[in-house]
Amino acid sequence: MVEACVFCQIIRGEKSADFVYDGESVVAFKDIRPHAPVHILVVPRKHIRSINDLLEADTIIVGEMIFRAGEIAKGQGISGTGYKLVYNVERGGGQFVFHLHLHLLGGW
Ligand code: AMP
Ligand code: ZN
Repeated sequence: MVEACVFCQIIRGEKSADFVYDGESVVAFKDIRPHAPVHILVVPRKHIRSINDLLEADTIIVGEMIFRAGEIAKGQGISGTGYKLVYNVERGGGQFVFHLHLHLLGGW
């Protein structure tokens, strides 16, 4: 856990968020500034800065994130129409929150 990290604060319950999933290794909540009718962030409980910082042992977490995104998409009723799964990596890749997260965007 990183003190000043906004996603760690959400995971610790110090900051509110609209959760759609709360699991053992991964949580998911609605993006506060949605870029799509459905915009959900799938976030590991473990603080990992970005895809650049993954350890081989973290691949199980990334697998869980992607699997969970698919399940959430089904739950949100957008799996049929389709959606995007996006990892922004570092500033040039559009990353602003430096706690790994997967954007689930859909519902168009
Ligand atoms: P990225 O640009 O990939 O780092 O995306 C970070 C995302 O986190 C943005 O889409 C923000 O709108 C979203 N975000 C930032 N703060 C919060 C928050 N407190 N609750 C929910 N989403 C947030
Ligand atoms: Zn964090």
